Amino acid sequence: MLTQKNLIFVGAPGAGKGTISAVMLEKYPLVHISTGDILRDEVKRGTELGQQASVLMKEGKLVPDEIVAGMVRARLAQKDCDNGFILDGFPRTINQANLLAEALKELGRPLDRVVYLQVDDEIILKRLTARQNCKKCGAIFNKIFMPSKVENVCDNCGGELFQRPDDSLETAKSRLEVFYKQTQPLLDYYTEQGKVLAITELDKDKIVAAIEKELA
Ligand code: AMP
Repeated sequence: MLTQKNLIFVGAPGAGKGTISAVMLEKYPLVHISTGDILRDEVKRGTELGQQASVLMKEGKLVPDEIVAGMVRARLAQKDCDNGFILDGFPRTINQANLLAEALKELGRPLDRVVYLQVDDEIILKRLTARQNCKKCGAIFNKIFMPSKVENVCDNCGGELFQRPDDSLETAKSRLEVFYKQTQPLLDYYTEQGKVLAITELDKDKIVAAIEKELA
């Protein structure tokens, strides 16, 4: 059972963090905290934060650590996180990891595991440039690997599917570069703490089974 487990998902954009989170959420009462989703919502609502973030996001660059860490801290302080959580896309830098460690200590929510979804670049780029998201419910599809039953229509809610602007080939490449440069050192940081579970499986059920086995 994966209740009350506090997890971080690390992986290049397109490694499957969102997809695996969605499968886990169907099975367990965990809270899913995706900094990308929170930021995209801010952009959509045209908030001040959204306006600041939007340019950086379009270029595939990281939003400043303090802003993102503050957003996550506020979310982690909410009561429903007592059930455990999946942090998806955060932390991405050592500085963010330190800010997170402080917040988790203050909130009394110790980290259980860092799940690293390790996927080859070639597959990542294929996946990213074919990825589609539902405008209405946010569900993730892929034109090549996980197509919707009806083209451009969400299986779950009938909403229209679209491609994220940062999933173009050019931006996808630069996001991969940013990942290797800034996020890879995070894995060393968490490996030293004995927290990392690296998974090279590509099948989503096998990935979830590996996480369940590790945390049983
Ligand atoms: P994602 O959906 O996780 O791929 O995030 C999309 C974009 O949001 C990234 O390319 C960044 O511009 C921004 N973003 C998301 N999470 C973070 C984070 N932890 N730190 C800085 N920027 C972030």
